[in-house]
Amino acid sequence: MEDILIIAELVNGKLAPVSLQLLGKAHELAKESNGNIVALIMGHDVMEIAKELIKYGADEVIVADHPELAYFRTLPYTRIMTETIKDREPSTVLLAATSQGRDLAPRVAARLQTGLTADCLDLSINEEGLLLQTKPSYGDNVMVDIIIPQHKPQMATVRPNVFPLPEEVSNPMGEITTINVNFEDDDLKTIIREIVPEKRQASRLEESDVVICGGRGMGSKENFDQLYVLAEALGGAVGGTRPAVDENWIEDSYQIGQSGIMVAPKLLITCGVSGAVQFTVGMEKSNIVVAINKDASAPIFNFATYGIVGDVREVIPAILQEIAAI
Ligand SMILES: Cc1cc2nc3c(=O)[nH]c(=O)nc-3n(C[C@H](O)[C@H](O)[C@H](O)COP(=O)(O)OP(=O)(O)OC[C@H]3O[C@@H](n4cnc5c(N)ncnc54)[C@H](O)[C@@H]3O)c2cc1C
Repeated sequence: MEDILIIAELVNGKLAPVSLQLLGKAHELAKESNGNIVALIMGHDVMEIAKELIKYGADEVIVADHPELAYFRTLPYTRIMTETIKDREPSTVLLAATSQGRDLAPRVAARLQTGLTADCLDLSINEEGLLLQTKPSYGDNVMVDIIIPQHKPQMATVRPNVFPLPEEVSNPMGEITTINVNFEDDDLKTIIREIVPEKRQASRLEESDVVICGGRGMGSKENFDQLYVLAEALGGAVGGTRPAVDENWIEDSYQIGQSGIMVAPKLLITCGVSGAVQFTVGMEKSNIVVAINKDASAPIFNFATYGIVGDVREVIPAILQEIAAI
């Protein structure tokens, strides 16, 4: 079968946007490979989410529904995913390059004795009909194309926000198939006692409609912390450039760019960021970009919808004052 299997991911009981992004890309790939697009969803009470996947063009959604699957746990999810792939024999399996996808994909690939390309930035089909998986390599200094010619399925994890969200299809025809879920004792050894939401960031950076990004030009941790005030005022999340991470102003999981995460919010405000290519590759799909930089010739202004030439220490308090007056 030339089917493409998407592993749908849930965050706080909702479908992660990256799963829809993968579905959209799968549509494009399926035009060349002539397979069906199948999504696997593991969770509890997930029928509405299965219907959502159909609305966005899945030909079939396989539902593994069980109270033990309510929260992600490595071993039971690994078992279900492995067994589903053995049963359905898709030619391609796509997961998000999130902590969940990065945990599951290598385990399942090892059980299936197949190849996996992690952290892809693009996917296409080559002349031989194989999945061409494009990703940064050698310390992010080159982009490489990888194929998996001798084993099936071809497995890849893809970073969130590298593909756009698809439109709903006009005439959804997909089917929902519920599968029996059986565990072995060893699968359920991990017990989730409590889930503690991260305190600092109200929303996940990759999924936030508003992102404030601070660079070296913020000058100090104290100045950088002003960005959280701005983010809170605008209902957004904060990210940083690599120098901001190196300075310990923000954790490395919030680094935006080639070796960090990709963001594509409705509004991105960059503060004291120069606009190096390794940064802009991670934000160029943002909708509206406001850049604040004291150097009028900074390359970031080439990516900006609105540019503010000025000192962040003056501009950010001025913006906060304006917001407070609304
Ligand atoms: C293999 C590789 C991978 C990389 N991956 C990443 C990545 O994922 N993400 C990433 O960000 N970088 C990455 N980098 C680093 C990247 O090349 C740049 O060095 C980095 O993005 C620059 O960060 P910056 O804009 O914060 O700092 P700078 O380039 O130093 O820019 C600071 C800017 O702040 C402005 N400024 C200074 N003071 C003020 C002020 N008071 N008010 C207003 N503006 C001010 C300056 O005019 C300047 O434009 C990578 C590099 C390599 C080689």
